[in-house]
Order: sequence, then C-alpha cells, then structure tokens
Amino acid sequence: MNDDNSRDLYDRALSVMPGGVNSAVRAAIEPYPFFVQKGDGGHVIDADGNRYVDWVMGLGPLLLGHDLPEPVQAGIQQKASEGPMYGTPTEVEVDLAEFVVRHVPSVEKIRFVNSGTEATTSAVRLARGYTGRNKIVVMQGGYHGAQESTLVEGDAENPRPSSAGIPQSFAEHTLPVPFNDGEAIREVFDEHGDDIAAVLTEPILGNYGIVYPEEGYHEFLRDITEEHGSLLIFDEVITGFRVGGLGCAQSEFGVTPDLTTFGKIIGGGFSVGAVGGRAEIIEHFAPSGDVFQAGTFSGHPVTMAAGLETLQFAAENDVYDHVDGLGEQLRGGLTEILADQAPSYTVTGTASMFKVIFTRDGPGRDSLEEQCGAGCRQNPTCPRYDYCPKNAADVKNAETERWRRVFWGKMKAQNVFLSQNQFECQFVSYGHTEADVEETLEAYKQAL
Ligand SMILES: *Cc1c(COP(=O)(O)O)cnc(C)c1O
Repeated sequence: MNDDNSRDLYDRALSVMPGGVNSAVRAAIEPYPFFVQKGDGGHVIDADGNRYVDWVMGLGPLLLGHDLPEPVQAGIQQKASEGPMYGTPTEVEVDLAEFVVRHVPSVEKIRFVNSGTEATTSAVRLARGYTGRNKIVVMQGGYHGAQESTLVEGDAENPRPSSAGIPQSFAEHTLPVPFNDGEAIREVFDEHGDDIAAVLTEPILGNYGIVYPEEGYHEFLRDITEEHGSLLIFDEVITGFRVGGLGCAQSEFGVTPDLTTFGKIIGGGFSVGAVGGRAEIIEHFAPSGDVFQAGTFSGHPVTMAAGLETLQFAAENDVYDHVDGLGEQLRGGLTEILADQAPSYTVTGTASMFKVIFTRDGPGRDSLEEQCGAGCRQNPTCPRYDYCPKNAADVKNAETERWRRVFWGKMKAQNVFLSQNQFECQFVSYGHTEADVEETLEAYKQAL
C-alpha cells in the first residue's frame, strides 16, 4: 500500500505543528498517521488514494457517516451562505435547545458551547458555583477533555496532574476513584462528603476501552450524591444521541443526572459542546446567575443547523435501528471469532460502539457458550465475569502494545481503519453496510 503522500504531508506537518498534529491521539499511529483526502459513506480515502472502512468516524461525531443526507447538507449550506455568525441570537439555537429538552429526560435547560472540553469545564465550574464546594470525584481512565480539573491521575488519597502545566494545588480538588467500585465512592464521601461538588462520570467509559457499568452502579451514584447534596454529572459527550437513541444513555440506564455534558453528535460533525440539566441549576450560568460562562462562537448557526438536522433525521428515519443492528452483528461476529482464535480477549461495547480488549486471561474454552453474546454487560452469570475489564486498571493490563503496534497495522493493511489505540472507541454509522461488517470480521480473523 503506497503512502508517499501521507508521509510527505506528515513531514511538512512536523515542521509547523507539534508532533505534526492538532490533537495528540492522532499521532499514536506509527510511524505516521495517514492523511485523509475525503470521506465516502462508511469509508475514507487517504491522500494516496487508499480506501478504508472507517470505524473511527471522527472519534464519535459522525452518526450519519461521511455522506450527509440531503436535508442535513441543505441546512448547513444555507446557514453558511447567509453569513456564518452574528454575536446575537438566531432561531436555530432555540430549535436545537427545544429538541434536546424534548428528548433527554434530565434536561430542562441547556447552554451550548464549542467543544466537549468546554462543556465539562463549564459543568465543573457550575457545580462548584452552585454547591459552594470545591471537590470533584472522577473515574480513573475517564476522559473529560483537555481541562485542568480532570487531567488528574492517581487516587483520592494522592491525586496528581496527569499533564505538565497543571498545578498540584488544582489537582488536589479532584478525587479519582476506580469505575464500578461502590466502596471507593463511599470512602471518598465519608472523608470529603461536605466538600464534594459533584461526581463526574461517563455513563459507559468510552475513552478507555469501553467499560460497561455494573448493574445498580449508576443508581448507587445517584443515591449517594443526593444524600450528600452533591451533583451527579453524566458526561455524555460520546454516549449522547448514540446509546439509548435520542434519550441518550441516561434513558437507557433509567438514571437522571443533575447535569449532562454533550458534544460530538450534537453538532453534526462541527465543533460543539453543551451543558444541560435542571433549570434551577443551569440558571446559575451568567447572565441569569453568577457562574461566568461565555463564548464568541457558542450557538454557532452552522453548527446548530448541522446538529438539529442530524438529530431530526435520526428521529424520522431508521438511523438507530441501522447502527445498533450493525453494532450487534459486529460484536456478535467478533465474539464468535474470539472464541475460536483468542478466547482470553473480551468484546465490549453496546448500541453502535464496539471494541475488542486484548485481555490476558479468560475462562476455559468449554464455558464460552454462556458468555455475553454481543459485548460485555458485566453480567455476574457470564463465565467471563471474573476476567472482563471493570475499570481502567483492568483495561490497562491488557495487551495494549500488541493492539497498537501489531494488530492495528494488520487491520490497516486490509483496508480497515480502527481507532488509534486500545483505549479509543470505535463507532458504527448510518453510512456503514452489512458488507462493511462482513469485510471487517474477515479482517479481524486474519489479523488476530
Ligand atoms: C471527546 C470527549 C470529550 C472532549 O470533547 P472535545 O470536543 O474533544 O473537547 C469530553 N468527554 C468525553 C466523554 C469525550 O468522549
């Protein structure tokens, strides 16, 4: 496979951009990433004309794939041609806000921003302003964007910045705990309960291999935050309008958070973020409240039109049936392939999210008949239950180097584009077909 053009572009990029990229994970591919020329349905075509089945889908935003349906394209083009933005409100912001409020159980009011990072930053500030407390509980391995309060590693006893440039005094207000560990949450509330502004979590760990919550975990988080006067914030930047359809993951799990952060799909492929929740809390944002929050590009008309038309298209067509159905086929097919070729590996994901975690240990082959059939559900009766990843440490212990250095390249050589490392999620879009699924399963068979 020729990649001369990608190599030359990367050479130019290295001279003018740090690491040759504008977002760190893109450089995880070695020796250099391929540069994309254009998309085509469920495929991308690179700068050398190679065509791949694309399961990265922009790392989450592209629910509909690369070919936007006619009404979505028309909405975007009309807003762009009328003049990109104004610094004063437009109707389409109200339309999108009304749509979200109508469909997402916990959202009574919403503030649009420009990225998932900005959404979680604003949500943390809002939680602190609303409660008058400082501390935020986060999950180890959870990702909430490139922001000071959540780029924190270690544990609740010894939190420390996970990036240079963040003062230890910031990190001290963040308490990382393992996902799916109720006891760890209970301990931080026993110790710091009066100073915990919020528990911030993805409903499903989507940036660390895909880890599904254990039965009752979110209900437990809901109860303990309520008990202590803390807020529960669901970061649905990935799961929003992907898991649980238009009701998002919170409707799937039947748990109502106080605040929800959105991004990715809600902007239909353009830069976006949002914070929604109970009106009484959201009203604390300026100008109705005293928590400052603002943005030149917030509620950008082109973005709002792309988001609104995408979600309306999903509401009126079989988008979720299609992507969830293909997701099920992929995960089911992978489960069968692994039983044969790599019985210790775990298939994860739900709805249109999927991944194979290269876990090192598993149950005996003869018990695999009874395992979760199409993605780990943390089901205690599954023979894999004692081995499947329940938190970030479990994912990290997998064969992450084999995944990145050997397996990823073998898939690329078969024209299948997977996410850049063991941790990032993979996504099915409306542009994908059964043929894409079959081709991909065949490639997994060869590469594993
Ligand atoms: C992608 C992501 C973010 C960050 O969003 P950006 O738009 O990249 O700033 C935050 N939280 C979660 C759960 C994400 O997946």
